[in-house]
Amino acid sequence: MERKMKPESLMMSYGYKPELSEGAIKCPIFQTSTFVFKTAEAGKAFFEVAYGLRPANKGEEPGLIYSRINNPDLEILENRLTLWDEAEDCAVFESGMSAISTVLLEFLKPGDTVLISSPLYGGSDHFIKKILPKFGIHVLEFMVGQTKEEIIKIVNDANMGSQLAMVFIETPANPTNHLIDIKCSKEIAEHFSGENKHVYLAVDNTYMGPIWQHPIKHGADLVLYSATKYIGGHSDVIAGACLGSKDLIKRVKGLRTFLGNMASPNTGWLLLRSLETLKVRMDVQATNADKVAAFLTAHPAVEKVYFPGNLTEKDGEQFKIKQRQCLTNGGMISFDVKGGEKEAFQFLNALKLIKLAVSLGSTESLAEHPATMTHSDVDFDLKQRFSITEKMVRLSVGVENYEDIIFDINQALSKITH
Ligand SMILES: *Cc1c(COP(=O)(O)O)cnc(C)c1O
Repeated sequence: MERKMKPESLMMSYGYKPELSEGAIKCPIFQTSTFVFKTAEAGKAFFEVAYGLRPANKGEEPGLIYSRINNPDLEILENRLTLWDEAEDCAVFESGMSAISTVLLEFLKPGDTVLISSPLYGGSDHFIKKILPKFGIHVLEFMVGQTKEEIIKIVNDANMGSQLAMVFIETPANPTNHLIDIKCSKEIAEHFSGENKHVYLAVDNTYMGPIWQHPIKHGADLVLYSATKYIGGHSDVIAGACLGSKDLIKRVKGLRTFLGNMASPNTGWLLLRSLETLKVRMDVQATNADKVAAFLTAHPAVEKVYFPGNLTEKDGEQFKIKQRQCLTNGGMISFDVKGGEKEAFQFLNALKLIKLAVSLGSTESLAEHPATMTHSDVDFDLKQRFSITEKMVRLSVGVENYEDIIFDINQALSKITH
């Protein structure tokens, strides 16, 4: 009987044929710009399929042409990434921002409106609010905690229901871990869809990564990743990915070919290597994060901990969303120290094992100060509204021994002088 293996069992081999690479057990880096055609007829056939001049015949695989269009490292990586999200297809990029900006440019046109959740990752926020309007695209936003009725009213009050083309969300929100309801976002997209119009739902799933949250199951059309974070996971590569149906990814890859922002063979190879340990890394990060959050929650120098694992029934909707769409509590914890910037900086400067750096999802634990670092250009009022204040510290929990992580946090907290 055919057994359906779990993605973690397939990450070492799926989609790679050793016999095509001298028997090498690992996929080599295909560091090549172009590929030799066996015959002129074969080259012609490859282009016909790649440019959609005719549909592929049954069993006809897309031929390798030129590394801006396709490359084995990228194709194998894309095939493996589809397994976690159970997506039909995937496109990989040289950064998370290139995946996000390509999707926005492909699915939005002048006159359209995009509805976003707030807060978004700073780069996405900038691209959507500062660059898309130059192309005549309107932006509406809703805040965490708003109900479906309230969000629909935002669109109706702006009189933009008919031009709404995309709902773009990010959950959990960075750095406060507030959750946005994917299923409810889908219902909003459907509410504004019509016979001749499909409002797409795109979800930036970087914060939970492909192991802990599967937006397609909850109705997302497109899932986006900064593969720099959990997927890469070793703080040594910048990359991005987009997943969805065959039809949608075909469009994404089409624009990618002409923007030329595909991942390089070397990036593809690094991510293939990272994917082999994705599950074990993230399993450890999630259990470590639970332990670290419990420690912080009980510590007298800590005022408040922002962590999905701390949600209980009395948190109402947030708790329900977590139960529905998050498979773990994630690996990101934010917390307020008692005091302000001075105390937060004393803590950050005293860390020894944990590195003081932005980014997240890596093997090593990282800490940063959102108000003056990742979120420094967010509007002051918005920062206050989202509790991104001077006393907040953001932690990305790594794979170290959790007792060592807690030891480091404890000694750094003890260095705070009031
Ligand atoms: C880092 C990040 C991005 C941008 O990804 P890059 O790989 O840095 O381009 C987008 N969204 C989220 C949530 C991120 O954390």
